[in-house]
Amino acid sequence: ASMREERIEKTKTVCTYCGVGCTFDVWTKDRKILKVEPQQDSPANGISSCIKGKFGWDFVNSEERLTRPLIRKDDHFVEVEWEEALSYVSKRFNEIKKEKGADSLGFIASSKATNEESYLMQKFARQVIGTNNVDNCSRYCQSPATKGLFRTVGYGGDSGSIDDIAEAEMVITIGSNTAESHPVLASRIKRSHKLFGQKLYVFDLRKHEMAQRADRFFQPKSGTDLVWLSAVTKYIIDQGWENKDFIGKWVNGFEEYKESLSKFTLEYAEKMTNIPREDLIDIAKQIVNVDKLAICWAMGVTQHQLGSDTSTAISNLLLITGNYMRNGTGAFPLRGHNNVQGCSDFGSMPNFFPGYEKVSDDNARTRYEKAWNTEIPNEPGMDNHEMMVAIHEGKLNALYIKGEDTGIVDANINYVTEALEKLDFFVVQDLFLTHTAQYADVVLPAAPSLEKDGTFTNTERRIQRLYKALDPMGESKPDWVILKDLANKMGFDWNYRHPSEIMSEAASLAPLFAGVDYKLLENYNSLQWPVQEDGTDTPLLFTNGFPFEDNKAKLYPLSFELKHDTDEEFDLHVNNGRVLEHFHEGNMTFKSSGIVKELPSSFIEISPELAKEREIKEGAKVKLVSKAGETTGKVHITDRVSGNELYLPLNASGKSAVNYLTDNSVDKDSNTPAYKEIAVRMEVLEKK
Ligand code: SF4
Repeated sequence: ASMREERIEKTKTVCTYCGVGCTFDVWTKDRKILKVEPQQDSPANGISSCIKGKFGWDFVNSEERLTRPLIRKDDHFVEVEWEEALSYVSKRFNEIKKEKGADSLGFIASSKATNEESYLMQKFARQVIGTNNVDNCSRYCQSPATKGLFRTVGYGGDSGSIDDIAEAEMVITIGSNTAESHPVLASRIKRSHKLFGQKLYVFDLRKHEMAQRADRFFQPKSGTDLVWLSAVTKYIIDQGWENKDFIGKWVNGFEEYKESLSKFTLEYAEKMTNIPREDLIDIAKQIVNVDKLAICWAMGVTQHQLGSDTSTAISNLLLITGNYMRNGTGAFPLRGHNNVQGCSDFGSMPNFFPGYEKVSDDNARTRYEKAWNTEIPNEPGMDNHEMMVAIHEGKLNALYIKGEDTGIVDANINYVTEALEKLDFFVVQDLFLTHTAQYADVVLPAAPSLEKDGTFTNTERRIQRLYKALDPMGESKPDWVILKDLANKMGFDWNYRHPSEIMSEAASLAPLFAGVDYKLLENYNSLQWPVQEDGTDTPLLFTNGFPFEDNKAKLYPLSFELKHDTDEEFDLHVNNGRVLEHFHEGNMTFKSSGIVKELPSSFIEISPELAKEREIKEGAKVKLVSKAGETTGKVHITDRVSGNELYLPLNASGKSAVNYLTDNSVDKDSNTPAYKEIAVRMEVLEKK
């Protein structure tokens, strides 16, 4: 080979975007990313990938990358040496802890960082500081799904693999724009639907690509999925169509649950959801006529005040019809970020140690206290939402955010940024000087996935290895190195030389990961948790019952009350979600020219009916006003939305960010913001 070719390196990595967890070889020459090549033995994607995975990497070499630590001096930042930055953080953390107690500090981990880095973030909070105030962005998305599944089947992960979704006879998606949010997974459904007659029923407010392809598409009124799910379940039981064998063997609480359904008649459901009675009957019949049903859901379910209850209703329906414990069946909450699953799994949660052992569980807590030679509070700490409220109340004074643009992605931007301004001390660790970082006292430059070793866990609970392809840019460092250096600066002795040692420590403490070892994760090898000590993993989550005392799942009775609606003053409902080309707040994708070319700016979708009524044309400029704030944008008229529904990509940034409109309403059981419950009025600024 010529010299030129010799300098080209191929490194296995895991996509940094969505939770499908595509893996590929990335070809690099010096710092140049030449191409991204999926491999036949990529477990989640084979030879496929989407536009983000293929072209979304330029941000790594962006000139806007932070390359040196910054400290705020008066109203501007100055570049400093690592030594000075870490000494300053260490000093301020110690002072605040001494003066106001460990619980006056809070930590927000990143779902874009590795499992090992999530493990160290919670260890830092619990061991170095002594607080359980640590959380991550699953609070913004899938915590309600986790809650709903915990209540009913005992584990908060997908019941099977993407293969199981492809193998199902019927797939129902609820509140999931699958083709744009999880493109490679959607292509598996499209294939099964087209070639193998898989039935596809889609429930969503918006007629997106999957809705157009579906056998049946339903548009229930916003926030009422719990009602149709419960009514369909009740109808199935009333007809005697429930899976009696499965329930008898594996399910507790049938009688009590059955009674709790009395309110969910077809009449009531029709009235509340706008789905006609005959359609509800058809849905019930289709469900019991297939042997294998998989239900996929996403933010359209979870980001509501009843997000946890609605996720519970999905699991109840699967239990009643015996759609657990077999390939091709089960519950599939589709994870957004590439490592949102792993970030929670590895303990960056206020109530859980790694592997979902409760902090209140004496047995687990003692194990960690002993290993870390420290005392850990036995009460859950604050979640993201509680931290923001506590800052306003003066009860939380210092915050450390790693790889999360909280000031733009948390609901109610005005409220959250006011909180960030109130902090006594604020550290942000990120790739860029984000919206959130503008409020920081110290900004630490981190390294993205291509510049480090580690593991990510995808939506299938699959732990996959990523290898370092490039050196960290400038003086930036991987999050695990920064956390280690800071812990040592604060007098601890963290001597990890490689992320594999962090994983070994986690595996030795958390039974869920007992057998996880880098030796079993080389190249394209992967493990789906739980992983037993001998290295056996668990592609199908439930094989011999459920992780409760008697091995039986629990039906969970629910009630319903409509939590939000439009009114005379705020007469339009705003829905929001992803677009294919961009990712979340856009910090990475808006810095990738291959993607910006495809979709440079954002838009507000409105229906042709509404455009006609308000006499506005394509491209008109409008202002949306909610009770919490306002945003402006350009109108795109499309029949993907209907009536008084609007749709905003959540990727919009700056003044068009959707979270100027969202408020402090949250899911009652998980404190996940009810991002999808926004009523607005629209003012036309320029008709065009
Ligand atoms: Fe990355 Fe998701 Fe696209 Fe796969 S489907 S390439 S994981 S963004």
